[in-house]
Amino acid sequence: HRGQTLAVQFVTFGAGQKMLLARDITQLEKLETMRRDFVANVSHELKTPLTVLAGFLETLQEHQDLPASQQSHYIHLMNDQAQRMRRLVEDLLTLSALEASAGASDERWLNLTELTNAITEDAYVLSQQQHQIQLSPPPAYLILGNESELRSALGNLVSNAVRYTPPGGTISLSWQETQDQLAFHVADTGLGIEAQHLPRLTERFYRVDRARSHATGGTGLGLAIVKHALTHHQARLDVESELGKGSTFKAVFPLARFRPVN
Ligand code: ADP
Repeated sequence: HRGQTLAVQFVTFGAGQKMLLARDITQLEKLETMRRDFVANVSHELKTPLTVLAGFLETLQEHQDLPASQQSHYIHLMNDQAQRMRRLVEDLLTLSALEASAGASDERWLNLTELTNAITEDAYVLSQQQHQIQLSPPPAYLILGNESELRSALGNLVSNAVRYTPPGGTISLSWQETQDQLAFHVADTGLGIEAQHLPRLTERFYRVDRARSHATGGTGLGLAIVKHALTHHQARLDVESELGKGSTFKAVFPLARFRPVN
């Protein structure tokens, strides 16, 4: 069939009889291509900051008579690149740990208000008072889940909202309950995303705007981490967005994951 790859092999058996064996390896090939792309992407992502870092080091080494202010400027830029590499390696480790298990380990009943407050505080720090951050009080529920996975899933959505919303914008955080679901909504008045990109956002290293992602310290792995962490909790990610207007990312959990505080 078109688009299908078969591995074909002659096998001899009995008194010299031959048999033709054909195995469908389409899926295997697809996985192998994905793996190769991933390794190429990681290498590229690490190589760029490493090249810049090495360049500045060389300059410092060759021009030791540079004015102190210039030297400290270079050191500052080198530090940025080292941080970028550190973030990338951390996100890679988080993602591979998430991928290694089918579900969330170490699940506990967590207070939704405490969890949401912690995430909101991180957003305040990241925003540096550049945005208006609004939080509707969460319902008095406990959620059954892995604390660090939930924090990184919801926290990544909030940090993206901050990073992709220009100063002066508004970020609204709320929990919305329907008959059988409870969803964490992160709505921003930021850049927005064209519809064609939406289906690919959770792919590793997929970025709509590469320059913006880099400028705001993105690794391109945030939403891949979100997706995996949510899947571990039988939750899904929904996105609504309009270019130039803003986006709403929703982490939608089954209501069965919650119970009232008392
Ligand atoms: P990154 O580290 O690049 O932010 P993510 O996986 O978190 O990687 O997000 C993938 C891409 O989705 C981003 O590069 C950005 O283009 C887009 N994106 C994510 N969140 C938002 C948002 N709130 N507003 C606009 N674009 C967003």
